[in-house]
Amino acid sequence: MSARRSQLLEEMGLGPVWRLRKRQESGCRIQDSGPERQDLGSRIEDSPAASKGEKSSTIFDKSMPESSSAPEPAEDDRGARILRMDWPELKATVAGCNACALSKSRTQSVFGVGDEHAEWLLVGEAPGAEEDARGEPFVGQAGRLLDNMLASIDLKRGHNVYIANVLKCRPPRNRNPEAYEVAQCSPHLMRQIELIQPKLILAMGRFAVQALLDTDATIASLRGKLPRYRGVPLVVTYHPAYLLRNLLDKAKAWEDLCFARRVMEKMKSDGGAN
Ligand code: URA
Repeated sequence: MSARRSQLLEEMGLGPVWRLRKRQESGCRIQDSGPERQDLGSRIEDSPAASKGEKSSTIFDKSMPESSSAPEPAEDDRGARILRMDWPELKATVAGCNACALSKSRTQSVFGVGDEHAEWLLVGEAPGAEEDARGEPFVGQAGRLLDNMLASIDLKRGHNVYIANVLKCRPPRNRNPEAYEVAQCSPHLMRQIELIQPKLILAMGRFAVQALLDTDATIASLRGKLPRYRGVPLVVTYHPAYLLRNLLDKAKAWEDLCFARRVMEKMKSDGGAN
């Protein structure tokens, strides 16, 4: 392992865990233990339906939330309009949005950042104080951890990576998003996903998972599985802010990142079929 990667893992709080489990040499390439992770090939390879975004008993657990259950904003006029927007229209709409009360307390909306043709899309919850001030997602303490997490799998903000939140405006005092706010803001995220057409989505935290999969399932129950958002494989992991408070779960987040990395590599080696 390079000195840089070793330092990154230390910053993620993974150094001691890494050494304890003697994974120094293998990094993400190690075959993670655990039943969910042993069968990646059959999850993304064996099913002709997978590449068409159809249901597949080979890939999906029966209990698995699927993209077909995601919200359908096209049913209302506002959602349908948003789903037809191009990037400039969408950015202007988010900048001027007053669909919920968060528009009154925000400094500015936080649209998203990165490569608009990225293969990797990372979805968080909502801007915090620093994001609200600077207009960019994940620039506070959780963002610094996220950048280190990305670096640990050789990714970098803005390079083949796009970062967005479910909510584009900061909830006061960083309270949890409310259902109405998520419902009003979700079409923006859905349109971002359609425009980006990522190969893989990393959903960080329960609000991202709930918004994208329309499920109440826990993060723990979805980790290591591969539900899809409208055909796009979705890897579930913990939110970086949660990881700052729950150091022991950083090792699990590392496993999730390695899992995501392997899914991406598998899709590429299969010639883009997902
Ligand atoms: N937490 C999030 O979910 N998003 C941000 O942009 C910052 C913190």
